[in-house]
Amino acid sequence: MLKQLNYDNLLQLLETISTDYALQVPTLLADGTRLLANYGSGELSLTGPPLQRKPTSAFFPQTELLLTIDVEGQVHLPQPEKPVALFGLDRTDLAALTFLDRFFCAPPADDIYQRKRDRALIISLTGSAGPERSFLPLTEDNCDIEMSAVNGQYLALGHSELGQGFLDGFADGDPQQLEDLRRESAQQVSPAELLQQASRLLSEERVPDRFWKEIADKCILCSGCNLACPTCSCFGVQDRQSGHGTERSRVWDSCQLDAFMREASGHNPLGSEQLRTRRRIHHKLVADVERWGELGCVACGRCDRACPVGIGMLAVAEEIVRRFN
Ligand code: SF4
Ligand code: SF4
Repeated sequence: MLKQLNYDNLLQLLETISTDYALQVPTLLADGTRLLANYGSGELSLTGPPLQRKPTSAFFPQTELLLTIDVEGQVHLPQPEKPVALFGLDRTDLAALTFLDRFFCAPPADDIYQRKRDRALIISLTGSAGPERSFLPLTEDNCDIEMSAVNGQYLALGHSELGQGFLDGFADGDPQQLEDLRRESAQQVSPAELLQQASRLLSEERVPDRFWKEIADKCILCSGCNLACPTCSCFGVQDRQSGHGTERSRVWDSCQLDAFMREASGHNPLGSEQLRTRRRIHHKLVADVERWGELGCVACGRCDRACPVGIGMLAVAEEIVRRFN
């Protein structure tokens, strides 16, 4: 189902969605940053740089209550919340969501994550939606509605039954415009090629330990790379006690931190920054490929933008290829 929406139609669609969903949309902050925020909480931003907050945090938030045990020992699960709708994801955002879905929903599935994902509505935003209306390539059907900005209008392709239901009643879109967008998307150069080369060099063990020492010496252990990354899935479990009982939550962890794998005995299999930095890169470019058949990095660039010392994934991959290819 292909439809065409003007700006007012788009607002009407978002308004309709927001009645039944906790809708997050691209929102402009005063400093120019764009991020996904609650619909109506700020200025809707339909073009510009990538969204800084990772969209996967809507389903795997930084801190998440898992259960409460009351003073009598009874276990209470959190009440289900409104289903989530996300609007404005680009191709890399959707690739990250697909990656995380596979991780959390592989048997034994993480039922907290899966419940949220099963009820969610996902809408991408591509076409002339990048910085200064530059072109963002189309996604790969892994969303409910693909919205593409073209000539001041929005071409809306319903991929799922849920998405198509929301598009009912809007004017039909022009299939030729969609073909043109697809052709332009196919011509885009992806940074994934660089990552594939780095992955191959790592698999062939062409990267010596001294490289990791050099990179790791720059790291200030801020954990920004992991916190920004939409495919990172590590978490720790925390119990907090109050007069009402115990709350158990999960909280994002970071493989750059010293305590990441430290055992109760004090032994730490990742006891140096060198080992941890190697692991951060190696895990996504080699271990994930061995386990899932594809890179664990979707080349979104968030860790590169977050890292204050310039050793995000794309920077390190570029250095690996430059020095060891
Ligand atoms: S570019 Fe960085 S933040 Fe983005 S997916 Fe790859 S490792 Fe994660
Ligand atoms: S963002 Fe950079 S400096 Fe901070 S922990 Fe990650 S690699 Fe180290």
